[in-house]
Amino acid sequence: MTKQKVIVVGGGIVGCMTAMALVKRGCSVTIVERNQIASQNSGESSWAGGGIIFPLLPWMYSAPVNALTNSGANAYKALSQQLQHETGIGCDFDQSGMLLLPNFDAEAAQTWCAQNQLPIQAVKASAFGVQSSGGENAHWLPTVCQIRPPFLMQALRQWLIQNKVTMLERTELVPLKQTSELNTWQTVNGGTLAADQFVVTSGAWSFELLKDTSAKLNIKPMRGQILLYKPQKNLEQIVFKEGFYLIPRRDGHLLAGSTLEDVGFDTGVTEAVRNEISAKAEAIMPALKGMPIIKHWSGLRPGTPDNLPTISAHPTIKNLYLNTGHFRYGLTMAPASAALVAALVLGETSPLDVTPYVCKK
Ligand SMILES: Cc1cc2nc3c(=O)[nH]c(=O)nc-3n(C[C@H](O)[C@H](O)[C@H](O)COP(=O)(O)OP(=O)(O)OC[C@H]3O[C@@H](n4cnc5c(N)ncnc54)[C@H](O)[C@@H]3O)c2cc1C
Repeated sequence: MTKQKVIVVGGGIVGCMTAMALVKRGCSVTIVERNQIASQNSGESSWAGGGIIFPLLPWMYSAPVNALTNSGANAYKALSQQLQHETGIGCDFDQSGMLLLPNFDAEAAQTWCAQNQLPIQAVKASAFGVQSSGGENAHWLPTVCQIRPPFLMQALRQWLIQNKVTMLERTELVPLKQTSELNTWQTVNGGTLAADQFVVTSGAWSFELLKDTSAKLNIKPMRGQILLYKPQKNLEQIVFKEGFYLIPRRDGHLLAGSTLEDVGFDTGVTEAVRNEISAKAEAIMPALKGMPIIKHWSGLRPGTPDNLPTISAHPTIKNLYLNTGHFRYGLTMAPASAALVAALVLGETSPLDVTPYVCKK
């Protein structure tokens, strides 16, 4: 049997995991990426993310969002071990746990955790060495994990190269025109790329690429800014307070973030946000006062209503699939979302109910 030739458009976490899922199922895969995969470019979300493998406050989200985050999160331990074993690159997967500081809906948290067998414990914030302006009554989620997105992307890139995925980097595809069937797609430099199937994994740029063909695709960039510190004494666990988080890395670094900004494709960082984030970080960890900020960056999330991605065949164009719009939790969702789109491309039974993620006509 001849191998299905699939082109994946976009080499962020969703594109790389989609390529991995397709290669494991015997496809011949090419990733087309307008920048370089696994490096910090201009605005891509995957390198820039915090790497918490958990949907922060899952009780705020719908069942279809949590189905993807749960399934994705459950895949990470084995995935990071496989990548380490087969590429020699570690992703710093770590079950660091997460401390939730008030204010949040403790009753909703406890009910959801009980229903979903997620361990949660009422604790005192001071026992974790942090300041809590909203009171001492915190909650501890010991099973929450994290990963280092830049390391994960490097390991995935290496794994894909070893498994004969073709990488067409610095290659940009033009916005698609309406057609009934997709057999070729043009690059901005006038090249023509042919495949049996195409999967769009272009993150925040997906609507720009598909707007002539999918007017109802509701994806827009949502900028997030993050600061990086290296404190003398680091936290042991992720700390979350009212939309803000601190993420300690095992090598002594500490991330503080992030923002949710509706500023189009502006990938800049701002002084105002730097001050806002550092003030929030110092309020939880006073030892950060006066510490140098090592780095300050931003990324453009593929923002969608209700955080619900589109994982679907295109409603009118044959041979075209979408795996995009993962908004705040693309790192967490990517393994599950990739398995789902790979099943659609190959006509296999899907591991999850696909109905909530279908692209509207
Ligand atoms: C500050 C911040 C913190 C975050 N923290 C977390 C977290 O803790 N946990 C979590 O689960 N998620 C987190 N996220 C969200 C997560 O990073 C995103 O959901 C995820 O990275 C989206 O991946 P993607 O592959 O769809 O998009 P991207 O990584 O943006 O990749 C899309 C790719 O498509 C390419 N592309 C676009 N157009 C074209 C074209 N025409 N031709 C060729 N290539 C093209 C782009 O260059 C890009 O590389 C965070 C995001 C940000 C910004």
